[in-house]
Amino acid sequence: MKILEGIPVSTGIAIGPACIIERPKLNIERKRIHPDEVALEIRKFHKAITELGEEIDHLIADLSQPQDNRDILTTHKMILQDVEFAANISRLVKNELCGIEEAINRHFTNVVNLFNDMENEYFSLRSSDYEDVAYRLLSKLLNQKSNYFAKLSENSIMITKNITPSEVTRVFNKNIAGFCTEGGSKNSHSSIIARSMNLPTLVDIQDLLQMVNDKDLLIIDGNLGKLIINPDKKTQDHYQKLLAEEKTQLNYLQTLIGKKCVTTDGKVIKLMCNIEIPEEISNVVKLKSDGVGLFRTEFLFMDKNRLPSEDQQFEIYRDIVKQLSPDPVVFRTIDVGGDKLSGLLNIEHELNPNLGTRGIRISLKHIPIFKVQLRAILRASVFGNVKVMFPMISTVGEILRIKEILKECREELKTEKIPFKSDIKIGAMIEIPSAAITSDNLAQECDFLSIGTNDLVQYTLAVDRDNELVDEYYIPHHPSVLRLLKLTADNGYKYNVPVAICGEMASEEKYIPFLLGLGINEFSVSPGRLLMVKNTIMKCNYQKAVAKTNQILKENTYIDVMKRIEEFRL
Ligand code: PEP
Ligand code: MG
Repeated sequence: MKILEGIPVSTGIAIGPACIIERPKLNIERKRIHPDEVALEIRKFHKAITELGEEIDHLIADLSQPQDNRDILTTHKMILQDVEFAANISRLVKNELCGIEEAINRHFTNVVNLFNDMENEYFSLRSSDYEDVAYRLLSKLLNQKSNYFAKLSENSIMITKNITPSEVTRVFNKNIAGFCTEGGSKNSHSSIIARSMNLPTLVDIQDLLQMVNDKDLLIIDGNLGKLIINPDKKTQDHYQKLLAEEKTQLNYLQTLIGKKCVTTDGKVIKLMCNIEIPEEISNVVKLKSDGVGLFRTEFLFMDKNRLPSEDQQFEIYRDIVKQLSPDPVVFRTIDVGGDKLSGLLNIEHELNPNLGTRGIRISLKHIPIFKVQLRAILRASVFGNVKVMFPMISTVGEILRIKEILKECREELKTEKIPFKSDIKIGAMIEIPSAAITSDNLAQECDFLSIGTNDLVQYTLAVDRDNELVDEYYIPHHPSVLRLLKLTADNGYKYNVPVAICGEMASEEKYIPFLLGLGINEFSVSPGRLLMVKNTIMKCNYQKAVAKTNQILKENTYIDVMKRIEEFRL
């Protein structure tokens, strides 16, 4: 028995025989063509685009595929239809007299490298889509058959070096038990689809292909991030039991869809979703949540050669709002470190990006860009229930400035006779200690507050949330953090302003009773955690939670806090 570690992207347990899948290598010849052959090469290219487009349409029309898969295929279709992409490749063939395969390969390699260089997880998400489209186009042009999944059998565990999003959609009907990859990241499109398919999945497993042989018995523990190869009898029995329990629990959680989220003593809690990309909306709708409590709009900006226009943003926002109406959608204006948008915004490299031009600071430094986003959000407000909130607020002066800018946007739209709702609710994110400490002032200037614990923990404890070397210092239940949460909740109550929580703390089972006990009655969590959170809330008694929270708040060390939390666990 051997145990390997990986990053779990989709929780759950899978048991089955290994099936190693290798994607055939593409042999791209470097050839020089005669100028007379340029037209022929370009014709070949357009034919391949049309054929691949038809194949994708066919898959999109397959209603047995989950909506997420079809949305991602639609993204692939858009990559194919992008005029700039076709023009670039044709130009390469004309100017450099290279074969069409080489031109496609060079173009996509450049795009993918560009995304990867930006060192942002979201770009690897996009780059895998581009790699995927490139591979499929090239295998078509090289007449390479792509039935390398034929050997996958039902209930097997697929093992690959990497997997592209369209490959995940192709294994959808194979009823495999789960899959593992040597590369990959938690938030790649492939991982998102795996999650939506509820397939236990581990990525980034070192030496995976050297350690596993075809037909080895495997266990994926998607909760602990472990891959067990040829488990002994005791381990097998243990996991068979866990698997059975998990199935029962999953079936039970599904029965909560559509039920009101209410504590045992009748307190109604709003339970909403955090989303990053529009493709996730179908999940939100399926889960019948109370809306979107955090739409991280920056993801729309990060894979572009140029900033999305007001119309482009408006159309995306409008579609989301329409699908969820009358439930609210809270748009969070762009929140990234300046380095992430440096290509688009011409921002200098900063030594401490997390303490630099980030979040609202970028928007206030680039007001025309901010106004484009605000106008798009205002325009979308006509189609449903729109709210807007601002990240990285550190002082009430920022809210006052934002209100002036919003006013200008409204006046412009009015003059241009473009419809919008004049009373959309505005909120401040509480994710910096200074914001929590002055939440009384912020509450008086805002319609709602939303606590982003991911950053609040980072900034309160001076610990980089993305640096695993200081992981042990990242302690959400540190008394300092809990006291800031309490202060914010109390100020919200005092000024009659709703306080929501949208950081990851809201979806950690152990913290939920404490948060409820603070009086927070809006939780926004990732769609994959929503039913678990609902289940936990529905088992809580609000009055008891208040009493427990007050006791927890009296503790002076995070160790004692944890003892209390464990004691009170339901
Ligand atoms: C947070 O900081 O808790 C939050 C929700 O925002 P993000 O994770 O996008 O920084
Ligand atoms: Mg944040």
